[in-house]
Amino acid sequence: MYSKIFRAVIIGAPGSGKGTISERIVKTFGFLHISSGDILRQNIINNTDLGKKAQQFINSGQLVPDEIVTKTMLARIREVGNKSYILDGFPRNSAQADILSAREQIDAVINLNIPHDVIICRVKNRWIHAPSGRVYNIGFDDPKVPGKDDVTGEPLTQREDDKPEVVAKRLQLYDELMSPVLAWVCGNVVWVTSFKGRETKEIWPRVERFLKDKVQG
Ligand code: AMP
Repeated sequence: MYSKIFRAVIIGAPGSGKGTISERIVKTFGFLHISSGDILRQNIINNTDLGKKAQQFINSGQLVPDEIVTKTMLARIREVGNKSYILDGFPRNSAQADILSAREQIDAVINLNIPHDVIICRVKNRWIHAPSGRVYNIGFDDPKVPGKDDVTGEPLTQREDDKPEVVAKRLQLYDELMSPVLAWVCGNVVWVTSFKGRETKEIWPRVERFLKDKVQG
């Protein structure tokens, strides 16, 4: 699609719409999506040594130790070779950011800056059918019968970590860990470009324009 190899990082709090924006980047620009969360989850499903090590941390809502994650991500980046990519979920703290910058020349860092109140509201309206993983967003894609799964009619529940007080804590932790990463990237490596807004549909056209300019430039 584009000839220049481009290496991007996307940063955003849980619930910031990072998944949706990443998908659109992949579709529009043909970048490979390298998501640390996806890689770790896949390893858990495949019951690999890495998966076994990572599982306990992920299940208890903790970060997986830097050493494990960095090794895994750098190996994946090496595997990808000379292709454009977008890193999602990595780096997640300044130690990881330091190691990445020593190994890779990053061309852009896209920071999704969504107000906490919007994220808390978004996540509060997210209900799931736990056995199947089907997700409903109240006021956006509602179930046909309130509180019931469309397919099975079983009751919907909220994830423990989607409850407002837990989300507020996750967001606070995210800010604590990411602010040095943002300062670091600003100070030493590349521009961080922040996209501030309340909705993905308002942010995406700006991200798209930004990347088009960068990739072609
Ligand atoms: P995510 O899908 O990005 O929210 O990641 C899910 C879980 O995987 C996180 O809660 C962490 O336990 C773990 N994880 C993903 N990326 C990293 C990372 N860069 N450093 C440490 N742990 C990570």
